[in-house]
Amino acid sequence: MVPLAGFFVYATKNPGAYVFLAVALAADILLLMAFHRRYLKKQSQISLLKEEYFEKANLLKVELQHEWETIASLRLKIINYSQLKDLTEKLSLSLSMEDTSSTLSNEVSKLFGHKDVTVILYLFHSTTGELGISSSQKGQMQVNLKAKKGDIFDAFVVKTLHPLLVEDAQTDFRFDLDKLDAEDKRTIRSLISTPLIVGEKTLGILRVDSAVPGQFATDDLRFLRTIADLTSVAIENAQLYERLETMAIKDGLTGLYLRRHMLDRLQEEISREMRRKRELSFLMLDLDRFKQYNDSFGHMAGDIVLKAIAKILEGHFSNPGEIVCRYGGEEFCALLPDCPKTKAVQLANEFRKMVEGREIILRRQKTHVTVSVGVAAFPKDGHSRDELIFKADEALYRAKETGRNKVCAA
Ligand code: GH3
Ligand code: MG
Ligand code: MG
Repeated sequence: MVPLAGFFVYATKNPGAYVFLAVALAADILLLMAFHRRYLKKQSQISLLKEEYFEKANLLKVELQHEWETIASLRLKIINYSQLKDLTEKLSLSLSMEDTSSTLSNEVSKLFGHKDVTVILYLFHSTTGELGISSSQKGQMQVNLKAKKGDIFDAFVVKTLHPLLVEDAQTDFRFDLDKLDAEDKRTIRSLISTPLIVGEKTLGILRVDSAVPGQFATDDLRFLRTIADLTSVAIENAQLYERLETMAIKDGLTGLYLRRHMLDRLQEEISREMRRKRELSFLMLDLDRFKQYNDSFGHMAGDIVLKAIAKILEGHFSNPGEIVCRYGGEEFCALLPDCPKTKAVQLANEFRKMVEGREIILRRQKTHVTVSVGVAAFPKDGHSRDELIFKADEALYRAKETGRNKVCAA
């Protein structure tokens, strides 16, 4: 302030100094303007940089979100894969078809456990070729469904052999819901379903349905397909195992049990009846003069007769617990638990008459066969399996000796 005041005092005395002052002021203004311009330029550079950083931050945020989603889907995949690993491990432990199908529906039910769903496994019957329910499950419970042979949705999968996703059955133009079995009171609004295929062979269908619309997405269907791919082989193995098991205990010609199986069962039944203090009857049956029949009509004709007799035998002794078997050649036997000897003789006579009355047409010719039967009962005629068989055989021999087409009791 003091130099400025000094300057003014000096300027009043020397007006020339005003020129200097004006020049100095102009220089100042110019300097300030230059500073201002630089300031504005810097400011715009800073806001540009700010924008750039904001943009980068946004990009990073999106990328981070994406990464989180990837992590979440990977986590889900890991869970799914470990569940699939569990499923295959459990399936590898089940050999029988019954075990395999209940393990499968149980595990699939758990995999979709967060939703209120019904899991159904349909398989084609090995001889009739018809689709039928092998197991059905809701939550932890096996359920009994009305549509035993599948409904319109299953028919669609069988026809197309493609996986099916129905988001809402009521608005899906492919299906006419009026065709759903009225007996089946279940409401089905959404479902996923996939055929079970091994090589060229279709084994059945795996289906998950819900009463709520929109329960499934394409991801669920993809997951179900993976399950189906993994389990089809296990199902085929179980079917093969079952066939092998049947072959080991059942006769190929007549479909009756083989002698070995009958001997095991007879032993078990004797022990059981011993505990319950009940009677058990054992029948030994042999076709009469069958060699002669074969000689007259040929071995093939003989086989047809054996099959027909086996059918009658199976039909006649079909009460729970009763077992019939092909003992060997043209000999059969029947095991009748909780059956006294008098009743067994009566049943054997009924059977003998049925065989006698049965016309077998061969080369347009009516033919007949007859059968002789020996009956023995536990505990009256023997306490052991071998004793019982021996006594029944002895009675059969007597029936043969005394004229055939007869029933003799030990
Ligand atoms: P019997 O009244 O004394 O029992 O006379 P049989 O001729 O039936 O008795 P045998 O035991 O001497 O002959 C049994 C015949 O059964 C011999 C065989 O030709 C026939 N046979 C055994 N197994 C089969 C088979 O699987 N198919 C056919 N077609 N015949 C069989
Ligand atoms: Mg014989
Ligand atoms: Mg015979």
